[in-house]
Amino acid sequence: MPELPEVESLRKSLEPYILNQKILNVEVLRNKIVSGRGTKRVASETKKSDFISSITGHEIVRLDRRAKNIIAVLDDNSVIIVHLKMTGQLVYKPNSTQTLISGGHPIELSESDLPNKHTYIIFYMPDGTLYYNDVRQFGYVLHYINHEAAVEDGHFQGLGLESTSENFELDDFSTRMKLKTGNLKKVFLDQKVVVGLGNIYADEVCFGAKIRPTRSIKTLSKKEIKALFEAINIIIPHAISLGGSSISDYLLADGSRGNYAREHKVYGRGGKECYTCGTILDKIQLAGRTTVFCSKCQK
Ligand SMILES: [Zn+2]
Repeated sequence: MPELPEVESLRKSLEPYILNQKILNVEVLRNKIVSGRGTKRVASETKKSDFISSITGHEIVRLDRRAKNIIAVLDDNSVIIVHLKMTGQLVYKPNSTQTLISGGHPIELSESDLPNKHTYIIFYMPDGTLYYNDVRQFGYVLHYINHEAAVEDGHFQGLGLESTSENFELDDFSTRMKLKTGNLKKVFLDQKVVVGLGNIYADEVCFGAKIRPTRSIKTLSKKEIKALFEAINIIIPHAISLGGSSISDYLLADGSRGNYAREHKVYGRGGKECYTCGTILDKIQLAGRTTVFCSKCQK
């Protein structure tokens, strides 16, 4: 599943290509992708035709992101919300070159032909074509008349702070942390304090702050909360910058998640030596997820 840094890398990579382009034509090959979200969605022919007629002829004037939602704002102030979920991917193919701009689920070499059997939406634009592919089809691409309508439909509910926002401040972070209970890993995973710390980055941030993910929030000192805040501010932007540079690497199909994968200090390294002190890293189950930390470096 793509984590926030990958989604943000994708947004940043697509932005220069699709911004100010008009959606000339849309093909929806699987109605359910545009028919709602969650387990209760029902594929609807009406929703498909509404989706197509609402966006055709409109220009993409902004590409935003909230948590792992990519939000394309159109020239009539309506929005398209894309959530890749487990296996969604967006691939842009410029008319002028063979280079694909892609992100989300890694592209398999065998699938670099477009459209392929996992392509469910095709957006035709003057300078290229944007494909939404989704192997397991848990993702969605939904249109709303404006941002408020999306919020009313339950999008972005209960989401925490955006660490990449210039408004991300220690005071807000501390206040939200102090309202929580449970261990650090659980609190990071639920996205209500800060968004974007999934399994990988939750572990990396804890290591960066030298604090164990098992620690109860209530035991954290002011200094430790600050250390976590600072680790988030270093690790997330760094991951985004490397994810951005790795977008085309997905075509190399080595199965890696991008360049940041090479920089993981703890994630995926249980049983191996800590890069800092050489201690064997502990691997445990915490908050239902595999969690790795160094018992010596992290207190
Ligand atoms: Zn260590």
